[in-house]
Amino acid sequence: MPDTDALADLMRDSARIVAFTGAGISTESGIPDFRSPGGVWTRYDPREFTFDKYVGSAEVRANSWAMRKEFLGNTPAPNPAHLALAELDKAGRSLGVITQNIDGLHQLAGSTNVVEIHGTAREVMCIGAAPVAGTPDGCGFRADTAWALDLVAAGTADPRCPDCGGLVKSATVSFGQMLFPGIIEASTDLMEQADLVLAIGSSLQVFPAADLPVHAVRHGAQLAIINDEPTPLDSIARLVVTGRAGEVLPPTVRSALA
Ligand SMILES: [Zn+2]
Repeated sequence: MPDTDALADLMRDSARIVAFTGAGISTESGIPDFRSPGGVWTRYDPREFTFDKYVGSAEVRANSWAMRKEFLGNTPAPNPAHLALAELDKAGRSLGVITQNIDGLHQLAGSTNVVEIHGTAREVMCIGAAPVAGTPDGCGFRADTAWALDLVAAGTADPRCPDCGGLVKSATVSFGQMLFPGIIEASTDLMEQADLVLAIGSSLQVFPAADLPVHAVRHGAQLAIINDEPTPLDSIARLVVTGRAGEVLPPTVRSALA
């Protein structure tokens, strides 16, 4: 039985909670961790899908759309963990959610201030005709991903920006792509204002995932980690709850807000 009482106590005493979420919060919505067995990166070679290869090859772009169709084949819905965080938000106790996920489920659940470190798979964007140095250089065009997938289904293998003719790519951060401007600043701002950081379903091993909670602790926040396996930051956490987000968060949030 996870130690949810101690976690509820921490939440009850905190007014400025920031959640930091990774793949583990979305697996219960049926979205596999891309790196887990059976995940998409065990079936596709990530080295074939870097930003530069995408820019340089119409064939890579066509394969990428086909793969994305497979990603989005099901229509995942928020699970009780996403909904519990949205409850904290509604109660005025959350400053925001910083997520490594690209599924948009926090917004669908009702969280209002969501920083998506790796962008979103729900939209596509113009990245310009020939962007360099892993940096999109588009005209600002964005559309729902369905817009591009409909074009692909109708026979356009490599959809282009209707405004400037530039390349169109999922609004995610690909391998070899720079993070979007302002993301680190928005994340560190939230971390500096937090009095409690909930690190949920993240292995806390990849930059900048590991650094953000450390930054929060340096600025005086307490850190609680909810994950189904140990993380490198367990030693600086006030509390570590071993378990699945969908089981731990709903009763804890209910108790903290009661
Ligand atoms: Zn454009």
